[in-house]
Amino acid sequence: MNSVALTGIGMTSQRTRARMVERLHDLGITDARVLHAMGTVPRHVFLEQALAHRAYEDTALPLGFGQTISQPFVVARMIELLIAGRELGKTLEIGAGCGYQAAILGMLSKQVFAVERIAPLLARARDNLRRIKLSHVRLKHADGNLGLPEAAPFDTIILAAAAVAVPRSLLAQLAPGGRLAMPLGGAEQVISLIERGEKGFVESRFDAVRFVPLLPGVE
Ligand code: SAH
Repeated sequence: MNSVALTGIGMTSQRTRARMVERLHDLGITDARVLHAMGTVPRHVFLEQALAHRAYEDTALPLGFGQTISQPFVVARMIELLIAGRELGKTLEIGAGCGYQAAILGMLSKQVFAVERIAPLLARARDNLRRIKLSHVRLKHADGNLGLPEAAPFDTIILAAAAVAVPRSLLAQLAPGGRLAMPLGGAEQVISLIERGEKGFVESRFDAVRFVPLLPGVE
């Protein structure tokens, strides 16, 4: 019974995933690497069964613990800004949640680290990534405000939770030439992209977004 239901979802998911990629392209995502990753990772695996049928809608969906799985367009948009004209290289994600974005990053880079402050969510991310066999994504239960000093510096840092300012330790852990993308703001947020150039950090701002807040500590 269970396996029949799963097969059903598997077959529909390939078609709906292809439609999701077409929609991302229509919305302006053009990097073939990003579109390929978005079309390959099965988003329904990362959702609770009751929501799996909505996996390929372009919306954020609840994950439990008051958190949400990010909207596909926003995941694609942030990663496209980070990868434009280069490779992602060694990558750090802050706020792994259920591991969906970590999986997309894992398709695009051989070295991905992701931290999450809520232990049960991290456990779920670990299970999900194992299920789709992305074992090179390394997960850690930690407060992402502190970055991940033991693996720094990073060529790419991406935050899946919003803050009114970039945490200083994250800037310090960005390699020369590295890029950081995050939702910047409180009630109103925009995507902020920071590049560490030879003369210092250069910031650019993009689309308005809505993310859960970056919180302190772990639970
Ligand atoms: N990347 C996820 C999005 C999860 S929502 C996806 O692909 O869908 C954002 C996540 O950031 C939540 O799980 C939340 O618990 C986590 N978070 C918030 N503040 C954090 C912090 N300081 N350190 C690590 N994770 C944090």
